[in-house]
Amino acid sequence: MGEAPAFFADDLQEHSPNGVLLNSKSCETAIDIGCSKTYVIGATENESASTIGVRIFDRSTNEWVIPTVLGIKPKPSEGQSAIALDEERILVIKGNSTSDDCFWFLEVDTAFVREQKTRLGTEVVAWSKGVVGEAEKPIVISGPSGVGKGTLINKLMEDFPSMFGFSVSHTTRAPRNNELNGVHYHFTERCVMERDIKEGKFLEFAAVHGNLYGTSIEAVEAVTDRGKRCILDIDVQGARSVRASSLEAIFIFICPPSFEELEKRLRLRGTETEEQIQKRLRNAKAEIEQGNSSGLFDHILVNNNLQTCYENLKKLLGLSDCDKNTKISVPELFHMPVEHTVSKIEQKILINYIATEEEKSATNMFVLDLSSIKGGAPGRTRSLNIRLAKPSTNGIICSKMAS
Ligand code: 5GP
Repeated sequence: MGEAPAFFADDLQEHSPNGVLLNSKSCETAIDIGCSKTYVIGATENESASTIGVRIFDRSTNEWVIPTVLGIKPKPSEGQSAIALDEERILVIKGNSTSDDCFWFLEVDTAFVREQKTRLGTEVVAWSKGVVGEAEKPIVISGPSGVGKGTLINKLMEDFPSMFGFSVSHTTRAPRNNELNGVHYHFTERCVMERDIKEGKFLEFAAVHGNLYGTSIEAVEAVTDRGKRCILDIDVQGARSVRASSLEAIFIFICPPSFEELEKRLRLRGTETEEQIQKRLRNAKAEIEQGNSSGLFDHILVNNNLQTCYENLKKLLGLSDCDKNTKISVPELFHMPVEHTVSKIEQKILINYIATEEEKSATNMFVLDLSSIKGGAPGRTRSLNIRLAKPSTNGIICSKMAS
């Protein structure tokens, strides 16, 4: 890992490392990783760029490389700084931003990025927004068509509206009579969905009953950003992909009491043609076998009786005696000043800033502890722990929890 020279383009003449030419108009930061690459992070072509751009300078060939950038990109801000965490990731801190939008991780060589490089055959980087505080793990619910997953999820969402949010999947199947675009699914053309999959916008996808279904990274992030715990209703293939991804989740499989009962429920629902019912029943056999035997799921619930199954679901989510209006605690927001400097000691990031007049104190410091972080691209980097601290001659005094 190279030095982490966080600097601004205005300082170009004095600080430009290794001859990397930075845009003199916009705020750009150059970070060396390994022995040949410099990542230049900042607004690129013009000052009005709506997202932070990334360019790579290959020092071994003296050439610029424009990478494929995956993930939702951060918007530019004043006073951006950056620091290499290791060979895999760069932490970007946006000044003049609140804590729910100031920490961003640019992954340059994580397992996910390496996989995408092989798949796309290009240089790849991936953004993952940092989330301060403990975010509850998302819940993946799978089970054969007609088993009652949808009813159980709806009950959970109705009973605990401030706690849970539904990840709205994309699908190429046609909407049913009562289904709304953007609420039950994002109904999509196959070619559009295939293009978005290629562009890395999906956490997982699978062909189910002849149609394409998938969870976009944005769908999960939209729920997390509202401070809610995300519920994903996906098939077993999708659950397997999520298990292999960096999204840590709880996996629950809902099983019918018998195959005959499942067939009865599917027919009673009346939403499919006979041909579609036959296809769903064939797939259900395989799903039930995989769900029960693969070790993929943390919990298996038999939906013999809806109310009993619902009570068991609540029990395993720790909701039995829970007030229905309980919210997941969201950390208090704080503001990252424009003027700050960043340094790293082991797993701690020290962010120094000049306090405002009103705060009546001298230099202050945030300490961001990275030792407990979870997740990463695709999706959020969670469990960032940040404290307000004052530097002293004997070390750092952490004075207040900001999360
Ligand atoms: P339906 O057409 O009945 O709404 O859903 C059919 C199946 O697709 C269900 O088993 C459901 O769990 C699954 N499914 C819905 N959304 C997704 C998704 O985003 N990804 C995957 N892999 N499966 C999904």
